[in-house]
Amino acid sequence: MKGRKLLMIPGPIEFEPEVLSTLGKPTTSHVAPDFIESFGASLEMMRKVWQSPSGQPFIVGGTGTLAMDMAGSNLIEHGDEALVVSSGYFGERFADILKRYGAKVDVLKHEVGKAVTPAEIEAALKAKKYKLLTFTHVDTSTSVKLDPKPIGELGKKYNVLTILDGVCSVAGEEIQQEEWGIDVVLTASQKAVGVPPGLALLVASPKAMDVFKNRKTPVGNYYADWNNWLNIMQAYEARKPSYFGTPPVNLVSALEVSLKIILNEGIDKRIARHHKIASAFRAAMKALNLHIIPENDSVAANTLSAIYYPKEVAAADLLREINLAGIIVAGGLLKDLATAYFRVGHMGSVNASDILGTIGAIEAALKKCNYTFEPSAGIIAAQKVLLG
Ligand code: PMP
Repeated sequence: MKGRKLLMIPGPIEFEPEVLSTLGKPTTSHVAPDFIESFGASLEMMRKVWQSPSGQPFIVGGTGTLAMDMAGSNLIEHGDEALVVSSGYFGERFADILKRYGAKVDVLKHEVGKAVTPAEIEAALKAKKYKLLTFTHVDTSTSVKLDPKPIGELGKKYNVLTILDGVCSVAGEEIQQEEWGIDVVLTASQKAVGVPPGLALLVASPKAMDVFKNRKTPVGNYYADWNNWLNIMQAYEARKPSYFGTPPVNLVSALEVSLKIILNEGIDKRIARHHKIASAFRAAMKALNLHIIPENDSVAANTLSAIYYPKEVAAADLLREINLAGIIVAGGLLKDLATAYFRVGHMGSVNASDILGTIGAIEAALKKCNYTFEPSAGIIAAQKVLLG
């Protein structure tokens, strides 16, 4: 029996072999010509993946939370009004970050599983003048997805900076940053971008960079301060050596490999693959009479799914049995519902076999837990979507 289990959590994910083998190469100097080339090429490719030809990309050692911290610390000044559109745990985190930098924060949210609508956001923007709004494209705690396009348009209409937490969406869900007028799109390496944890990635619009440059007060975070990083990004892109903090050399080299894989697949094809695999998984859950957290498929993510345990099944038992069947999935993340649901990641390199294997393991685990269902119903429903 294979010793290795398939990692189907919403990040870190299964990485491509070329990405992993790049990590194992001898670490070079952060000012070596071939590394400068890797860094510069990665910045250029980020603009393509983010679809932001005029944006300023940043690659910094850290996690997705650092990328959120960068957006917050560089764009907020004490007393600024900010609106956080939340669909779960990571929306709440953004509110905490913005408050830390002195923002007055209003949070717009609904009960778990329901997405805030553009009309509700517009009403909030009409009622009060905000400097910026943040929203989570896919909240990884609930698998609820928002549509960034109308939110970007509202940002332009009301002259509010729009910050998209794309940690669980960039390179897995459609984002046209520039066309849709989103000012910051941020993510982390370990999700659909396909590189092990350790890189904070973001692209800022010219408007966001102007707001940053016109700050009246210093940035309240030394490491995250774009004044320290902008020159570094510009130098690498101009293929010149520079230094502020030692970059995670191997991770950046792996990022170059992964971004090439993403662009070779083609953004549109990649998004369509995520959509098909997610639709197949949701069809399987429906066929097994399991319910997902998002109130309907139009607000359900393509990068992960959050599924309620059936009432008659104990959370720990089901997770253990899925694991024994060779698949690693994640438990719940929302504090009040942590034992009520589990999460399955399906992003990045994920393919049809991975998702069918996962559904097979869920069926095997449900059977072990004495849940009543039609054996293979999930597999059949998923295969219909995958072959359709
Ligand atoms: N935002 C979202 C939507 C996320 O899914 C995560 C990580 N799960 C984060 C932010 C924070 O990223 P990290 O764990 O890399 O700090």
